[in-house]
Amino acid sequence: MEKSAKSKKRLQTAKELPLIIAEYYQECHEAKSKGKPVGWMPPMNGAIELFYAMDLQPVFPENWSPVCAAFGLTRQNFEVSEGMGYSRDLCGYLRNIIGYVHGMMGEEGNPLGGLPEPDLMLPPNGGCAPVMKIFQALLRRFPAAKAFKGDIPQVAIENISRYHVDYAVSEMKRLIAFLEEATGRRLDMDRLRETVILSDRACELWDEIMAFRRYIPTPISASEIGIMFVMVTRQGTQIAVDYLTRVRDELKERAEGGTGVIENEKVRLFWDNIPLWYNMGLFNYFEKMGGVVVAETYSAAWSLRLDVSNPLEAIAMKTLISYPLVSCVSIRKRKEMVLKACREYSIDGAILHRNKSCVPITLGQMDIKRELEAQGVPSLIIDADHMDERNFSVAQFQTRADAFMEMLLARKGLL
Ligand code: SF4
Repeated sequence: MEKSAKSKKRLQTAKELPLIIAEYYQECHEAKSKGKPVGWMPPMNGAIELFYAMDLQPVFPENWSPVCAAFGLTRQNFEVSEGMGYSRDLCGYLRNIIGYVHGMMGEEGNPLGGLPEPDLMLPPNGGCAPVMKIFQALLRRFPAAKAFKGDIPQVAIENISRYHVDYAVSEMKRLIAFLEEATGRRLDMDRLRETVILSDRACELWDEIMAFRRYIPTPISASEIGIMFVMVTRQGTQIAVDYLTRVRDELKERAEGGTGVIENEKVRLFWDNIPLWYNMGLFNYFEKMGGVVVAETYSAAWSLRLDVSNPLEAIAMKTLISYPLVSCVSIRKRKEMVLKACREYSIDGAILHRNKSCVPITLGQMDIKRELEAQGVPSLIIDADHMDERNFSVAQFQTRADAFMEMLLARKGLL
């Protein structure tokens, strides 16, 4: 498939990211070789803080899928999973990771050394059906891994009550007991508190970073949103805090100095749904007509402050909220979030990525479109897929994007 121009890295701090990614995977392999227990888990889950506090190694198979997309390995992985009978209509993360663990994993030449095998597995008993199925399939592939099957209620954020939180805390205590027994390591509550403080600081910095995108012109576009890698893999560590501090400082300087992503920013765009991980340069396509993608649904997932005075409840709350915040959010809440973002980031138009292989996040998009139009924000639906480039046509995208941009420019009297 023809690709858009490569994603431009304008921020100096974004150029540090490949090294940060490489160091994380190197750390995962070192952990494995030194006998430190490696646990596979879903992202945005309070287990990451427990792992770092107990000196265990967290690994995120979902996050490995964008890495495979960036290295152009998805087609190979899809062939394996499709050969096993997994339909092309299923989530791209699911098809990629299942293809990977049954295919090239462990072979020579894996980028970043590939994924180390899990000693522990934390399948979520919540979230979307694909994410639950991913871990069921991984458990079958790695039967020797010790598994903790959590039982976190799936509740819309606005309906979370005290008893949900209490139950999630009791599940966290059960998880701690499991980890202590499985690894022979004890959780030090002071260490957990330090980890939660670092985690919360990372969230605070994330919010500050996002706030600088409200500046006109914006100092960072969606094409550099890969910086969220540290939120996925390094939350609860000084590494995340130090990196995000450097990103925040660079953005502050750019924003306050009036340095934008492009010289003449004319149109500010919102992106709904997951990016196309195999084609992040697509975000830059609008720039030739003065358009910049300044906000997106996905990055909001990390705007979650933690109550550092009660670390156990903080990580329970994070686990409880993680899926409702992105994939299992109610349509009413999703509409509110998109409209709020459009107001806060002075959005002129929204791109709604109708994601063929992520039904949960695509659900409700027509309602969002109607609501946006009622509020005077035009929108465009783009058919694509966050992982599978076979479900995306660059030519069709360009034709529709050009027409949309012309309409937005005409509306602002800039054409
Ligand atoms: S939310 Fe979407 S992309 Fe994420 S696991 Fe579920 S179906 Fe896949």
